[in-house]
Amino acid sequence: MGIFSNWRRKRILRRARIPQPVWDRAVANLPLLAGLTQEELQRLRDLATLFLHEKSYEPVQGLELNEAMKIDLAAQAALPILNLGFDWYDGWTSVVLYPDEYATRHEWVDENGLAHSRREIRAGEAWERGPVVWSWADIAASGACEDGYNTVIHELAHKLDSSSGHINGCPALHAGMRVRDWRAAFEPAYEDLCRRADAGEHTAIDPYATEAPEEFFAVTSEYFFELPHLLKQLYPAVYEQMRLFYRQDPAMRLMGRLV
Ligand SMILES: [Zn+2]
Repeated sequence: MGIFSNWRRKRILRRARIPQPVWDRAVANLPLLAGLTQEELQRLRDLATLFLHEKSYEPVQGLELNEAMKIDLAAQAALPILNLGFDWYDGWTSVVLYPDEYATRHEWVDENGLAHSRREIRAGEAWERGPVVWSWADIAASGACEDGYNTVIHELAHKLDSSSGHINGCPALHAGMRVRDWRAAFEPAYEDLCRRADAGEHTAIDPYATEAPEEFFAVTSEYFFELPHLLKQLYPAVYEQMRLFYRQDPAMRLMGRLV
């Protein structure tokens, strides 16, 4: 059983794989991909090719999208599923791209039945079974440096999280992994970060992670790929569960690099 099990995907790869020189340029511009072996980079190239072909890029508000930008996004998007396979991104096709952060209206009904509405500025969002929305400025900033901020990984972590049927901070786990172990790793870490943020401490992890368990998973996924040594040092059990889930060990491949 190969990662690309269906013939249609094989055909895309045969006919339309991202050309090597174009791919090499994209990789050179993404420090996020440092430390990957040639074999891993080729697998990433295949996944990025599928992302380009299966997802529908929909620029809005006058964003002009060129081929290099499309590949930049596809290369970053492929990283979380490097050892999972493209099937993990099945079930949605639209990628809506704004030039910059965008305003959206968040509406909800509280437990008393009262409707509320609030204007929010966003860098990205992932709809359950729906599109992923991004600000291009934030995608560009995400790939350019490793600072623990990566909106591409963040929103796609929400997509992976939804594999369990709910976006709740616990994706569908692989055989051999246990929800009990996941909770035992994530819950105390989440509570620790909430406690520190509530106490007004400066936290090493972006306090946005304290919004909800699903945000904690999405934000710590950003750190897992961008600043793995930091995450491993702060919350080793979380790092270990993510290593098992993503089937990658970024701290190992970036060994020797200072955080
Ligand atoms: Zn989020």
